[in-house]
Amino acid sequence: MSRLAAKHDAINLAQGFPDFAAPSEIKEAAVDAVRRDVNQYAITWGAKSFRDALAERYRDVYAMDVDPELHLTVTCGSTEAMISTMLAIVDPGDEVVVFEPFYENYGPDAILSGAVPRYVKLHEPDWHVDTNELEKAFNDKTRAIIINTPNNPTGKVYTRAELEAIAALCQKWDVIAITDEIYEYIVYGGARHVPLASLDGMADRTVTINSLSKTYSVTGWRVGWALASEELSSAIRKVHDFLTVGAAAPLQEAGAVALRLPASYYDKLREGYEVRRDILVKSLDQAGFRCYLPGGAYYIMTDISGFGFPDDVSFGRHLIEKVGVAAVPGSSFYHLPEDGAQKLRFTFCKKRETLDAAAKRLAKLTEEA
Ligand code: PLP
Repeated sequence: MSRLAAKHDAINLAQGFPDFAAPSEIKEAAVDAVRRDVNQYAITWGAKSFRDALAERYRDVYAMDVDPELHLTVTCGSTEAMISTMLAIVDPGDEVVVFEPFYENYGPDAILSGAVPRYVKLHEPDWHVDTNELEKAFNDKTRAIIINTPNNPTGKVYTRAELEAIAALCQKWDVIAITDEIYEYIVYGGARHVPLASLDGMADRTVTINSLSKTYSVTGWRVGWALASEELSSAIRKVHDFLTVGAAAPLQEAGAVALRLPASYYDKLREGYEVRRDILVKSLDQAGFRCYLPGGAYYIMTDISGFGFPDDVSFGRHLIEKVGVAAVPGSSFYHLPEDGAQKLRFTFCKKRETLDAAAKRLAKLTEEA
Protein backbone atom coordinates (compact mmCIF):
# COMPACT_ATOMS: atom_id res chain seq x y z
CA MET A 1 0.00 0.00 0.00
CA SER A 2 2.91 2.35 0.74
CA ARG A 3 4.34 1.64 -2.73
CA LEU A 4 0.97 2.19 -4.42
CA ALA A 5 0.49 5.36 -2.38
CA ALA A 6 3.85 6.70 -3.61
CA LYS A 7 2.96 5.85 -7.21
CA HIS A 8 -0.33 7.79 -7.05
CA ASP A 9 0.93 10.56 -4.78
CA ALA A 10 -1.60 9.53 -2.13
CA ILE A 11 -1.37 10.57 1.53
CA ASN A 12 -0.01 7.52 3.29
CA LEU A 13 -2.18 6.65 6.29
CA ALA A 14 -1.29 2.99 5.75
CA GLN A 15 2.06 2.25 7.38
CA GLY A 16 2.62 3.16 11.04
CA PHE A 17 5.60 5.49 10.88
CA PRO A 18 5.53 9.14 12.03
CA ASP A 19 6.09 11.88 9.43
CA PHE A 20 7.24 14.29 12.16
CA ALA A 21 10.64 14.79 13.78
CA ALA A 22 12.07 12.59 16.52
CA PRO A 23 12.98 14.36 19.81
CA SER A 24 16.07 16.52 19.30
CA GLU A 25 17.78 15.32 22.54
CA ILE A 26 17.93 11.76 21.26
CA LYS A 27 19.09 12.78 17.78
CA GLU A 28 21.91 14.75 19.42
CA ALA A 29 22.77 11.73 21.58
CA ALA A 30 23.00 9.54 18.46
CA VAL A 31 25.26 12.02 16.69
CA ASP A 32 27.38 12.35 19.81
CA ALA A 33 27.78 8.56 20.09
CA VAL A 34 28.95 8.31 16.48
CA ARG A 35 31.43 11.18 17.09
CA ARG A 36 32.68 9.49 20.27
CA ASP A 37 33.39 6.50 18.06
CA VAL A 38 30.86 4.13 19.52
CA ASN A 39 30.99 2.57 16.08
CA GLN A 40 31.95 -1.06 16.68
CA TYR A 41 29.87 -4.06 17.72
CA ALA A 42 28.09 -3.67 21.03
CA ILE A 43 27.85 -6.73 23.31
CA THR A 44 25.62 -9.11 21.36
CA TRP A 45 22.77 -9.02 23.92
CA GLY A 46 22.97 -5.24 24.18
CA ALA A 47 25.13 -2.30 25.29
CA LYS A 48 25.37 -2.16 29.08
CA SER A 49 24.30 1.49 29.20
CA PHE A 50 21.08 0.70 27.32
CA ARG A 51 20.25 -2.41 29.35
CA ASP A 52 20.87 -0.49 32.59
CA ALA A 53 18.53 2.28 31.45
CA LEU A 54 15.86 -0.28 30.52
CA ALA A 55 16.10 -2.02 33.90
CA GLU A 56 15.86 1.36 35.65
CA ARG A 57 12.75 2.29 33.67
CA TYR A 58 10.94 -1.02 34.33
CA ARG A 59 11.69 -0.51 38.05
CA ASP A 60 10.58 3.14 38.14
CA VAL A 61 7.43 2.84 36.03
CA TYR A 62 6.12 -0.64 36.89
CA ALA A 63 8.11 -1.68 40.02
CA MET A 64 9.40 -4.66 38.02
CA ASP A 65 12.63 -6.34 39.10
CA VAL A 66 14.79 -6.60 35.97
CA ASP A 67 18.43 -7.74 36.06
CA PRO A 68 20.13 -6.06 33.08
CA GLU A 69 22.78 -8.81 32.97
CA LEU A 70 20.36 -11.72 32.82
CA HIS A 71 16.92 -10.67 31.65
CA LEU A 72 17.36 -8.41 28.62
CA THR A 73 18.30 -9.07 24.99
CA VAL A 74 18.61 -6.00 22.76
CA THR A 75 17.52 -6.74 19.19
CA CYS A 76 17.02 -5.11 15.79
CA GLY A 77 13.57 -3.77 16.59
CA SER A 78 10.74 -5.68 18.21
CA THR A 79 10.40 -7.48 14.88
CA GLU A 80 13.65 -9.34 15.55
CA ALA A 81 12.77 -9.77 19.24
CA MET A 82 9.58 -11.60 18.22
CA ILE A 83 11.13 -13.96 15.68
CA SER A 84 14.16 -14.67 17.91
CA THR A 85 11.77 -15.51 20.75
CA MET A 86 9.60 -17.75 18.60
CA LEU A 87 12.60 -19.59 17.16
CA ALA A 88 14.06 -19.95 20.66
CA ILE A 89 11.04 -21.39 22.43
CA VAL A 90 8.76 -23.04 19.86
CA ASP A 91 9.44 -26.46 18.35
CA PRO A 92 7.88 -27.47 15.03
CA GLY A 93 4.35 -28.72 15.62
CA ASP A 94 3.84 -26.78 18.87
CA GLU A 95 0.68 -24.70 18.96
CA VAL A 96 0.75 -20.93 19.48
CA VAL A 97 -2.41 -19.03 20.37
CA VAL A 98 -2.81 -15.82 18.35
CA PHE A 99 -5.61 -13.28 18.84
CA GLU A 100 -7.22 -12.08 15.65
CA PRO A 101 -7.24 -9.53 14.05
CA PHE A 102 -3.45 -9.63 14.55
CA TYR A 103 -0.42 -7.53 13.66
CA GLU A 104 0.56 -9.01 10.32
CA ASN A 105 4.04 -10.30 11.32
CA TYR A 106 2.75 -12.88 13.79
CA GLY A 107 1.54 -15.26 11.05
CA PRO A 108 4.91 -15.41 9.21
CA ASP A 109 6.72 -15.62 12.60
CA ALA A 110 4.63 -18.68 13.45
CA ILE A 111 5.33 -20.27 10.04
CA LEU A 112 9.09 -19.60 10.25
CA SER A 113 9.28 -21.25 13.66
CA GLY A 114 7.18 -24.24 12.55
CA ALA A 115 4.36 -23.37 14.97
CA VAL A 116 0.73 -24.21 14.33
CA PRO A 117 -1.27 -21.03 15.01
CA ARG A 118 -4.56 -21.34 16.96
CA TYR A 119 -6.61 -18.22 16.30
CA VAL A 120 -8.90 -16.72 18.93
CA LYS A 121 -11.22 -13.90 17.85
CA LEU A 122 -11.35 -10.48 19.45
CA HIS A 123 -15.05 -9.61 19.29
CA GLU A 124 -16.38 -6.34 17.89
CA PRO A 125 -17.29 -3.66 18.63
CA ASP A 126 -15.03 -3.48 21.72
CA TRP A 127 -12.75 -6.33 20.60
CA HIS A 128 -13.26 -8.24 23.86
CA VAL A 129 -11.88 -11.71 24.54
CA ASP A 130 -14.45 -14.48 25.08
CA THR A 131 -12.80 -16.45 27.89
CA ASN A 132 -14.65 -19.67 26.99
CA GLU A 133 -13.25 -19.52 23.47
CA LEU A 134 -9.81 -18.74 24.85
CA GLU A 135 -9.95 -21.74 27.21
CA LYS A 136 -10.83 -24.03 24.31
CA ALA A 137 -7.72 -22.93 22.38
CA PHE A 138 -5.36 -24.31 25.07
CA ASN A 139 -4.27 -27.96 25.14
CA ASP A 140 -1.22 -30.17 25.75
CA LYS A 141 0.43 -28.97 22.56
CA THR A 142 0.13 -25.24 23.37
CA ARG A 143 3.59 -23.76 23.85
CA ALA A 144 2.95 -20.01 23.69
CA ILE A 145 0.35 -17.27 23.35
CA ILE A 146 0.98 -13.93 21.63
CA ILE A 147 -0.64 -10.82 23.09
CA ASN A 148 -0.36 -7.28 21.77
CA THR A 149 -1.57 -4.53 24.07
CA PRO A 150 -2.23 -1.72 23.22
CA ASN A 151 -3.23 -3.45 20.03
CA ASN A 152 -2.50 -2.98 16.38
CA PRO A 153 -4.79 -2.93 14.37
CA THR A 154 -7.81 -2.52 16.68
CA GLY A 155 -6.60 -0.01 19.27
CA LYS A 156 -7.81 -2.40 21.97
CA VAL A 157 -6.22 -2.13 25.40
CA TYR A 158 -6.59 -5.48 27.17
CA THR A 159 -8.39 -5.17 30.50
CA ARG A 160 -6.75 -6.39 33.69
CA ALA A 161 -9.42 -9.11 33.89
CA GLU A 162 -8.53 -10.33 30.38
CA LEU A 163 -4.83 -10.34 31.23
CA GLU A 164 -5.55 -12.25 34.43
CA ALA A 165 -7.55 -14.85 32.49
CA ILE A 166 -4.63 -15.24 30.06
CA ALA A 167 -2.18 -15.52 32.96
CA ALA A 168 -4.28 -18.20 34.68
CA LEU A 169 -4.42 -20.29 31.48
CA CYS A 170 -0.67 -19.91 30.92
CA GLN A 171 -0.06 -21.20 34.43
CA LYS A 172 -2.58 -24.04 34.08
CA TRP A 173 -1.12 -25.31 30.78
CA ASP A 174 2.54 -24.35 31.37
CA VAL A 175 2.51 -21.91 28.44
CA ILE A 176 4.84 -18.96 27.71
CA ALA A 177 3.18 -15.57 27.08
CA ILE A 178 4.87 -13.44 24.44
CA THR A 179 3.59 -9.90 24.83
CA ASP A 180 4.24 -7.14 22.31
CA GLU A 181 3.95 -3.88 24.30
CA ILE A 182 5.39 -1.52 21.71
CA TYR A 183 2.52 1.00 22.22
CA GLU A 184 2.75 0.94 26.04
CA TYR A 185 2.79 4.74 26.40
CA ILE A 186 0.12 5.44 23.80
CA VAL A 187 -3.09 4.90 25.80
CA TYR A 188 -6.09 7.23 25.94
CA GLY A 189 -8.71 8.45 28.38
CA GLY A 190 -6.47 8.26 31.45
CA ALA A 191 -5.92 4.48 31.13
CA ARG A 192 -2.57 3.01 32.18
CA HIS A 193 -0.73 0.16 30.53
CA VAL A 194 -0.47 -3.07 32.55
CA PRO A 195 2.54 -5.24 31.62
CA LEU A 196 1.52 -8.90 31.61
CA ALA A 197 4.85 -9.79 33.24
CA SER A 198 3.89 -7.69 36.28
CA LEU A 199 0.95 -9.99 37.15
CA ASP A 200 1.41 -12.59 39.90
CA GLY A 201 3.30 -15.65 38.73
CA MET A 202 3.97 -14.28 35.23
CA ALA A 203 7.50 -12.81 35.43
CA ASP A 204 9.14 -16.19 34.71
CA ARG A 205 6.77 -17.26 31.94
CA THR A 206 6.46 -14.01 29.99
CA VAL A 207 8.63 -12.61 27.21
CA THR A 208 7.96 -8.86 26.97
CA ILE A 209 8.80 -7.43 23.59
CA ASN A 210 9.22 -3.74 22.92
CA SER A 211 11.30 -1.17 21.05
CA LEU A 212 12.24 2.47 20.66
CA SER A 213 10.28 2.67 17.38
CA LYS A 214 6.92 4.03 18.50
CA THR A 215 7.63 5.63 21.89
CA TYR A 216 10.40 7.83 20.50
CA SER A 217 9.24 8.09 16.85
CA VAL A 218 12.34 6.36 15.47
CA THR A 219 11.01 3.39 13.50
CA GLY A 220 14.13 3.41 11.30
CA TRP A 221 16.59 2.97 14.16
CA ARG A 222 15.78 -0.70 14.59
CA VAL A 223 16.47 -0.96 18.31
CA GLY A 224 14.20 -3.24 20.33
CA TRP A 225 14.42 -5.73 23.19
CA ALA A 226 13.07 -8.89 24.75
CA LEU A 227 12.67 -9.04 28.53
CA ALA A 228 12.45 -12.58 29.94
CA SER A 229 13.63 -14.92 32.70
CA GLU A 230 17.29 -15.95 32.76
CA GLU A 231 16.45 -19.33 31.22
CA LEU A 232 14.35 -17.93 28.37
CA SER A 233 16.78 -15.05 27.78
CA SER A 234 19.65 -17.47 27.41
CA ALA A 235 17.80 -19.26 24.57
CA ILE A 236 16.69 -15.97 22.94
CA ARG A 237 20.25 -14.58 23.10
CA LYS A 238 21.62 -17.60 21.20
CA VAL A 239 19.14 -17.20 18.32
CA HIS A 240 19.62 -13.43 18.28
CA ASP A 241 23.42 -13.72 18.13
CA PHE A 242 23.26 -15.86 14.99
CA LEU A 243 20.46 -13.90 13.34
CA THR A 244 21.84 -10.36 13.63
CA VAL A 245 24.79 -10.26 16.11
CA GLY A 246 23.42 -7.05 17.54
CA ALA A 247 21.55 -3.78 17.15
CA ALA A 248 23.28 -0.52 16.09
CA ALA A 249 25.74 0.42 18.86
CA PRO A 250 25.49 4.24 18.69
CA LEU A 251 21.71 4.09 18.59
CA GLN A 252 21.68 2.01 21.76
CA GLU A 253 23.65 4.83 23.46
CA ALA A 254 21.01 7.28 22.23
CA GLY A 255 18.35 4.85 23.46
CA ALA A 256 19.77 5.11 26.99
CA VAL A 257 19.21 8.89 26.77
CA ALA A 258 15.69 8.39 25.36
CA LEU A 259 14.70 6.09 28.23
CA ARG A 260 15.62 8.83 30.72
CA LEU A 261 13.45 11.56 29.14
CA PRO A 262 11.24 13.22 31.78
CA ALA A 263 7.63 12.17 32.48
CA SER A 264 6.43 15.26 30.57
CA TYR A 265 7.74 13.69 27.34
CA TYR A 266 5.38 10.72 27.71
CA ASP A 267 2.45 12.97 28.66
CA LYS A 268 2.97 15.07 25.56
CA LEU A 269 3.30 12.00 23.35
CA ARG A 270 -0.03 10.62 24.61
CA GLU A 271 -1.84 13.94 24.49
CA GLY A 272 -0.59 14.65 20.96
CA TYR A 273 -1.84 11.29 19.74
CA GLU A 274 -5.21 11.70 21.46
CA VAL A 275 -5.75 14.98 19.58
CA ARG A 276 -4.70 13.35 16.28
CA ARG A 277 -6.98 10.37 16.95
CA ASP A 278 -9.97 12.67 17.42
CA ILE A 279 -9.17 14.62 14.24
CA LEU A 280 -8.97 11.49 12.08
CA VAL A 281 -12.01 9.81 13.67
CA LYS A 282 -14.03 12.94 12.87
CA SER A 283 -12.92 13.07 9.21
CA LEU A 284 -13.51 9.34 8.72
CA ASP A 285 -16.97 9.53 10.34
CA GLN A 286 -17.92 12.45 8.12
CA ALA A 287 -16.70 10.60 5.04
CA GLY A 288 -18.97 7.59 5.77
CA PHE A 289 -16.66 5.15 7.61
CA ARG A 290 -17.77 3.48 10.83
CA CYS A 291 -14.87 3.84 13.26
CA TYR A 292 -13.93 1.60 16.16
CA LEU A 293 -12.61 4.19 18.63
CA PRO A 294 -9.12 3.08 19.71
CA GLY A 295 -8.25 3.04 23.43
CA GLY A 296 -4.54 2.91 22.58
CA ALA A 297 -1.90 2.68 19.81
CA TYR A 298 -2.20 4.93 16.74
CA TYR A 299 -4.55 3.14 14.37
CA ILE A 300 -8.25 3.33 13.60
CA MET A 301 -9.96 0.20 12.33
CA THR A 302 -12.99 1.08 10.24
CA ASP A 303 -16.01 -0.67 8.78
CA ILE A 304 -16.43 0.14 5.08
CA SER A 305 -19.67 -1.70 4.39
CA GLY A 306 -21.48 1.61 3.80
CA PHE A 307 -19.51 2.17 0.58
CA GLY A 308 -20.83 -0.91 -1.25
CA PHE A 309 -17.48 -2.24 -2.50
CA PRO A 310 -17.09 -6.03 -2.83
CA ASP A 311 -13.96 -6.14 -0.69
CA ASP A 312 -11.31 -4.21 1.21
CA VAL A 313 -8.61 -4.50 -1.46
CA SER A 314 -10.76 -3.02 -4.24
CA PHE A 315 -11.93 -0.22 -1.95
CA GLY A 316 -8.34 0.35 -0.76
CA ARG A 317 -7.21 0.75 -4.37
CA HIS A 318 -10.12 3.09 -5.13
CA LEU A 319 -9.18 5.18 -2.11
CA ILE A 320 -5.58 5.51 -3.29
CA GLU A 321 -6.24 6.02 -7.00
CA LYS A 322 -9.38 8.19 -6.91
CA VAL A 323 -9.37 9.83 -3.48
CA GLY A 324 -5.63 10.06 -2.79
CA VAL A 325 -5.46 8.44 0.66
CA ALA A 326 -3.83 5.09 1.50
CA ALA A 327 -4.96 2.67 4.23
CA VAL A 328 -4.33 -1.03 4.93
CA PRO A 329 -6.95 -3.60 3.78
CA GLY A 330 -8.54 -5.32 6.78
CA SER A 331 -7.94 -8.80 5.31
CA SER A 332 -4.23 -8.52 6.09
CA PHE A 333 -5.09 -8.84 9.80
CA TYR A 334 -7.10 -12.09 9.54
CA HIS A 335 -6.16 -15.64 8.57
CA LEU A 336 -9.37 -15.88 6.53
CA PRO A 337 -9.37 -12.83 4.22
CA GLU A 338 -13.19 -12.72 4.16
CA ASP A 339 -13.23 -11.81 7.87
CA GLY A 340 -11.55 -8.49 7.09
CA ALA A 341 -13.17 -7.90 3.71
CA GLN A 342 -15.25 -4.94 4.92
CA LYS A 343 -12.53 -3.25 6.97
CA LEU A 344 -9.70 -0.79 6.43
CA ARG A 345 -7.11 0.39 8.95
CA PHE A 346 -5.87 3.98 9.03
CA THR A 347 -2.97 5.37 11.06
CA PHE A 348 -2.87 8.82 12.65
CA CYS A 349 0.84 9.00 13.53
CA LYS A 350 1.09 11.99 11.20
CA LYS A 351 1.49 15.77 11.36
CA ARG A 352 -1.63 17.86 11.86
CA GLU A 353 -1.30 19.20 8.28
CA THR A 354 -1.09 15.65 6.87
CA LEU A 355 -4.31 14.73 8.69
CA ASP A 356 -6.01 17.96 7.55
CA ALA A 357 -5.00 17.31 3.94
CA ALA A 358 -6.31 13.73 4.23
CA ALA A 359 -9.61 15.05 5.63
CA LYS A 360 -10.08 17.28 2.57
CA ARG A 361 -9.47 14.33 0.24
CA LEU A 362 -11.70 11.96 2.22
CA ALA A 363 -14.54 14.48 1.90
CA LYS A 364 -14.60 13.55 -1.83
CA LEU A 365 -16.20 10.26 -0.82
CA THR A 366 -19.36 12.04 0.31
CA GLU A 367 -19.40 14.04 -2.95
CA GLU A 368 -19.11 10.73 -4.86
CA ALA A 369 -22.06 9.21 -2.96
N1 PLP B 1 4.66 -4.80 16.81
C1 PLP B 1 3.58 -4.07 16.49
C2 PLP B 1 2.29 -4.36 17.17
C3 PLP B 1 3.67 -3.06 15.51
O1 PLP B 1 2.59 -2.34 15.21
C4 PLP B 1 4.91 -2.82 14.87
C5 PLP B 1 5.04 -1.78 13.83
O2 PLP B 1 4.10 -1.28 13.29
C6 PLP B 1 6.00 -3.60 15.23
C7 PLP B 1 5.84 -4.57 16.21
C8 PLP B 1 7.34 -3.41 14.60
O3 PLP B 1 8.16 -2.78 15.47
P1 PLP B 1 9.74 -2.53 15.33
O4 PLP B 1 9.91 -1.28 14.53
O5 PLP B 1 10.20 -2.37 16.72
O6 PLP B 1 10.31 -3.73 14.65
